Amino acid sequence: MNEGDTNIEKTDAMEKALEKIGEIISLRGDPEHFEAWKKIEPFLKARIEEIPQQFLKLSKWSDSSKTLDLILHIIKILSGNLSVQEIAERVVNIVSEKLGFGIVLVSILDPKQNVFIRMSGTGIPKEEFEQLAQTHLKADHYKKLMQEKFKISQSYLIRWWHEEKESTDNSSYTPPDEKSGEWNPKDMLLVPMNDNSGSLIGVISVDNPPGGTVPDRSLLMSLEILAARAGQAILESWMYEKTQRRLAQMEILYDISSRVSTIENEKKFLKQVCDTLKNQTNYLWVGILLKDSETETLYVSAQNGLEDIRFSGVRYKIGRDGGIAGSVAASGQFKIIPNLEKARQQHIPFHHRAKSELAVPIRKRDKVLGVIVVESEQINAFSQEDRRFIRTLANQVASVLTNIAITKMRDEELRIRRALFEIGNMLSSILEPERLLRKIMDILRNTFSYTSAAIFLSEEIDGEEYLVLKAFAGRMDRELGEYKLKKGAEGVVGFAASTGNPMNVPDVTKFPLYIPGFKEARSELAVPIKYHDKVLGVLDVESEKANAFDERDENLLELFASEISVALINAQLYEKLESLAITDGLTELYNYRAFMENLNREIRRANRLNHKLALLFADLDFFKKYNDTFGHPQGDKVLKLFAETIRENIRKEVDFSARYGGEEFTIILPETGVEEAKDVAERIRESFAGKSEKELLRQVTVSFGIAIFPENGKDVETLLKSADEALYMAKSQGRNRCIIAGEG
Ligand code: GH3
Ligand code: MG
Ligand code: MG
Repeated sequence: MNEGDTNIEKTDAMEKALEKIGEIISLRGDPEHFEAWKKIEPFLKARIEEIPQQFLKLSKWSDSSKTLDLILHIIKILSGNLSVQEIAERVVNIVSEKLGFGIVLVSILDPKQNVFIRMSGTGIPKEEFEQLAQTHLKADHYKKLMQEKFKISQSYLIRWWHEEKESTDNSSYTPPDEKSGEWNPKDMLLVPMNDNSGSLIGVISVDNPPGGTVPDRSLLMSLEILAARAGQAILESWMYEKTQRRLAQMEILYDISSRVSTIENEKKFLKQVCDTLKNQTNYLWVGILLKDSETETLYVSAQNGLEDIRFSGVRYKIGRDGGIAGSVAASGQFKIIPNLEKARQQHIPFHHRAKSELAVPIRKRDKVLGVIVVESEQINAFSQEDRRFIRTLANQVASVLTNIAITKMRDEELRIRRALFEIGNMLSSILEPERLLRKIMDILRNTFSYTSAAIFLSEEIDGEEYLVLKAFAGRMDRELGEYKLKKGAEGVVGFAASTGNPMNVPDVTKFPLYIPGFKEARSELAVPIKYHDKVLGVLDVESEKANAFDERDENLLELFASEISVALINAQLYEKLESLAITDGLTELYNYRAFMENLNREIRRANRLNHKLALLFADLDFFKKYNDTFGHPQGDKVLKLFAETIRENIRKEVDFSARYGGEEFTIILPETGVEEAKDVAERIRESFAGKSEKELLRQVTVSFGIAIFPENGKDVETLLKSADEALYMAKSQGRNRCIIAGEG
């Protein structure tokens, strides 16, 4: 076994392990695991009580309005699409300016290299910081420091005597009391930032606390809320960057597919692919090798990164002796070599400076046509994402290579090329899925003489997979959107979707699963629209003639299907990007910004039409306590459950709910008077009390403040203020209730 194979196995095993961990974590909130949690609970409580009193003056979080201000400030400062660098800088700023620490250092994980990088700091001489910024920390660096015995709340406090003691005595050690309150420069306080599954993605380390004493509970909580929000912002940023990278990759794919129209020959096309790939990525070398079926060898048909002359006449054997390309061509499976230096015995890279490489077969079904090889100057440069991208590219190249072969034979050549060109062009301009599908249908119909053509998309309905008719051209005796076929059980379409392969039925009357799309159909060809191995839908054509479709139709429609799949994925990504900016990542409700815009709009509308409008403010009761007892990740689950409860109890298209900040939520009910508003609030309140009792670690209740336009306020500001005051009344009258403005 060589390096490449081990790597594949490792990644697979890792993916499986990650999946398992994810499963376990998401199960913790489930009722059946509740019993287990109940057992852990006393232990958790004991742990919290263990926290030395002198560290945490157990005073309630005293100045709550100041704290609220701080939280809102944190949310404001850390929202929007920030880069990881910006997040680090803003965190440092808040910790030093608002919380008063003299020295702050923020390190954040670089997931690609799996190291922590010190991104920002203050209170440290510039040169020293630069030194620190350049030395990256191994992923397990913090694990050594973040030991259970140092844990207070969510953070880790390592007192100077711990460190001194560490070398001689490893057993538990009671700190000398008299030293505990005062901060020593050798003390260390680390506040972790975690992802949704609790893995460490960053650390805030602080020194020189305000007042020269060990941070009290309130200060610690502020740091931890900041860390929780920053962790979320980092995840959002990664997600955004990933989406951006994907879009860049998509652009490369369009670029290539739009060139299909001008392809004169294979070699030129492959050269263009290599050039585009090399210019728009930071790969060191890019090459496409093709199989010569006569001699059963591979040759470099196009490359970028070295001089072409080097490859003239060079042949590579198919199999182990043919280097990475040879073995990939033989196995038909991709291969990653993460570190060429370690694999020097077996592998000679194409480029002498290459440190890692990735090779992906170009396949048409089971037949290997060639291999795409990319090399990088860095060790470990190729992630799953690169692999998927190159695989998509390889699929595209495979389609085009087959297409070149087809169009050579066909008199429709020009028309087909024009159609492909149109689709390629369209991809970059149309982003709404519906319009995109209609346009594709038009092109299909104008290009080919099929009696009817239709696009079905995969949808899950009541736990079953269906293919739903989304667009058609020509004859169809069915209604759009209503006509659906069960995957694997109904119609040629349902069958093709389940196998993932094209299904050509020369005579539909003899096909047992046949369900007629239009009455006179005699033959049908259904081609799955796939993105990697996932079936997104089916492209289907029918004809009044029997035996109407041959292998060339199959190949052509597959080509179209692959264009459609790229277009669909792009449209989905676009929708995701759009929604990223106005929704809250945790609860998937609208965020503060979207709420304010909507409230302004709704009040203007209500004013114009002389309508009423209800504004609801909700705030969870004693939520801080819940967080303190069970930790922030559990607190986040409460927030999610509450958001879900809101969604279940309001009108989907009419009402508008948002996360106002922290554990405060707002709901706008247009054209709603006081009685109805109170009903809605009561319904949510009761439903949540019931649900939380069942699904959470402890029952959580919620208080509501209700204000009606125009009675309680004729503009945004006064209405907000009225709702807020009503909420305050609900809190002071004992919580777990709904109060209407002016009636408390
Ligand atoms: P009450 O409203 O009943 O007066 O008490 P409370 O304990 O809910 O008081 P307060 O509104 O001051 O506390 C808000 C708490 O919400 C503080 C903080 O721990 C928590 N919080 C805010 N944002 C988040 C978040 O995103 N995740 C988690 N887990 N907790 C949050
Ligand atoms: Mg609150
Ligand atoms: Mg609260």
